[in-house]
Amino acid sequence: MGRFAPSPTGLLHFGSLVAALGSWLDARAAGGRWLVRIEDVDTPRIVPGADQAILSDLESFGLHWDGEVLWQSQRTGRYRAALEALRAEGLIYPCHCSRKQITAASQRRARDGGLRYAGTCRNAPYVAEGGCAQRVRTHAGLICFDDALQGRQCEDIEREVGDFVLLRADGVWAYQLAVVVDDAEQGVTDIVRGADLLDSTPRQIFLQRLLGYPEPRYLHLPVACNAAGEKLSKQTLARAVAALAPSDALGLALEFLGHAPPAALRGAPVPELLDWARGAWRRDRLPAARAASAPPGV
Ligand code: GLU
Repeated sequence: MGRFAPSPTGLLHFGSLVAALGSWLDARAAGGRWLVRIEDVDTPRIVPGADQAILSDLESFGLHWDGEVLWQSQRTGRYRAALEALRAEGLIYPCHCSRKQITAASQRRARDGGLRYAGTCRNAPYVAEGGCAQRVRTHAGLICFDDALQGRQCEDIEREVGDFVLLRADGVWAYQLAVVVDDAEQGVTDIVRGADLLDSTPRQIFLQRLLGYPEPRYLHLPVACNAAGEKLSKQTLARAVAALAPSDALGLALEFLGHAPPAALRGAPVPELLDWARGAWRRDRLPAARAASAPPGV
């Protein structure tokens, strides 16, 4: 079972189409189910209506999903239950540190650019007041996994990231916790997504282990970059992929994924293109890089 889990912070761009198509093909080629989950917990960043626009884009690209779409904003009770289960084991503590204090105390940056938390509040006496972040206690030791495309990955999260936030001071649930709870509850076995999430995977595996969840298999696709070498995103002003004809966009995304359709299929209708791709899909045709250039004009 695979899934696509977009954050509705903007329109679907070429990079998000690549992630959706890659996970859809990987699931469908194996005869598996494919789910869609709207990751809308980071409320300040959510763009109203972006969820519906993403869903209608997926439909126009022929990427139909199984079952009901899940909205994370409706599942905060599940995240609370997971947090309390960890708290009962003494693994959660409140953190009052301001960003300024964290920066001053931190001596290193994590691989994803975030600051390592130095553990300032770790041994402070417990205060059950609201308005502070909740962190999970990490411990030393390597967390390793074999990514189906990027190879073996290892990280000592205690050393490199430190105790990380599961619930922010402003009441927003952290992606790391929500994604793990939902993937487990939905029975996701195969996670195919962009390599921008490779570095947060050890944190997710750490939480899966603490919560007694099974560990899914991971495959991280190369991230699509613009001519300046930046990841396509709202911040880098990536265009909406819906501006292209669906079969053209799919053809380009397939080529990006090492599955250029044969010339005879140029301009073919979406279902025909997807039928061909499902039959042709082979993981060993994927480019094993963390990033690759998007085609011009997307
Ligand atoms: N919601 C995350 C994002 O759009 C992706 C989550 C995932 O696939 O694990 O970056």
